[in-house]
Amino acid sequence: MFSEELAKYDWEETTRQIQHKRPADVETALGKEHLTLDDFMALISPAAAAYLEPMARLSRRYTQERFGKTISMYIPMYITNSCTNSCIYCGFNHHNKFDRVILTMEQIEDECKAIRALGPFENLLLVTGENPRAAGVDYIEQALKVCRPYFNNLTIEVMPLASEDYYRLTQSGLNGVVCFQETYNRANYNIYHPAGMKSKFEWRVNGFDRMGQAGVHKIGMGVLIGLEEWRTDVTMMALHLQYLRKHYWKTRYSVNFPRMCPSEGHFQPNVVMTDRELAQLTFAFRIFDHDVDISFSTREKPSFRNHIATLGATSMSAGSKTDPGGYHTYPQSLEQFSVSDERTPAQVEADIRREGYEVVWKDWDKIFD
Ligand code: SF4
Repeated sequence: MFSEELAKYDWEETTRQIQHKRPADVETALGKEHLTLDDFMALISPAAAAYLEPMARLSRRYTQERFGKTISMYIPMYITNSCTNSCIYCGFNHHNKFDRVILTMEQIEDECKAIRALGPFENLLLVTGENPRAAGVDYIEQALKVCRPYFNNLTIEVMPLASEDYYRLTQSGLNGVVCFQETYNRANYNIYHPAGMKSKFEWRVNGFDRMGQAGVHKIGMGVLIGLEEWRTDVTMMALHLQYLRKHYWKTRYSVNFPRMCPSEGHFQPNVVMTDRELAQLTFAFRIFDHDVDISFSTREKPSFRNHIATLGATSMSAGSKTDPGGYHTYPQSLEQFSVSDERTPAQVEADIRREGYEVVWKDWDKIFD
């Protein structure tokens, strides 16, 4: 399990090593085709800030070689904001008082129709809070079955599950699972996740092994930028990705680097990542892992998304609502995070095409399941 591998790495020592990287380390990393974790640390270090241009060129080259000039589109559907966890940075936190929503199957079907009216989406991301009793595996399974006729590719972002439950859901149309570790800092993890199942660090971090064991086709991972020193967190994520590729080599992987937005809980980020740093991180990940899908949500502004679409990103959401029922049923309820890119899917498509890239709505067919 990955928790055993992670335990071999000391957080403070890793942070120190990243901070001590020098230009020569960056140049060595840029001269290699296959990077070590140490090379990755050089590319995300402050020393690499002066190498943004060559990093961008290399990132663009590898991305075009593997993915062509394409951006794959997806859309999230939040089906419940009911949550038993207490993540201190999240508006859906159990302690925030507001009317919780668990969409019925009829409402989920209405949401499917509303999304199909928005654009030709085939990749759907079903998102829930974490309430295993009220919206557990049975509920998620039913929701997948309702969505299946409308979309060719179904991914879930829900509480970590047991391996047999992931397997069961793959039999009901599940293609992918996204899970955010939020932070790999074991010592500080419970500051942000003080109660509920999410407070169990090992259960969460080893959930990716369980996905791999269940044969989930695609696994998405991410850390929440704003909690801990981001360079150390993404280094641990790169280590995790390397570990998963070795153990579950048939699986495809994606990474995502959400930067924290103000939420209902009024949590202010501990660290702020600039646009340049986010670009540097994207380039570093692409140079480190040429095949990983790098995804950007509507948390980011249109100008940044247009730019990064040509430099390393491979998938994007558009037209997103981050409240349950937001497309049709309850268009005004509480959002999990505020959207920075409010363009319609058609506008996002037009802007990507203007950059000389193709928008891919469908890259999977049910027939492959
Ligand atoms: S981040 Fe997820 S698990 Fe945590 S409170 Fe929000 S919805 Fe619940």
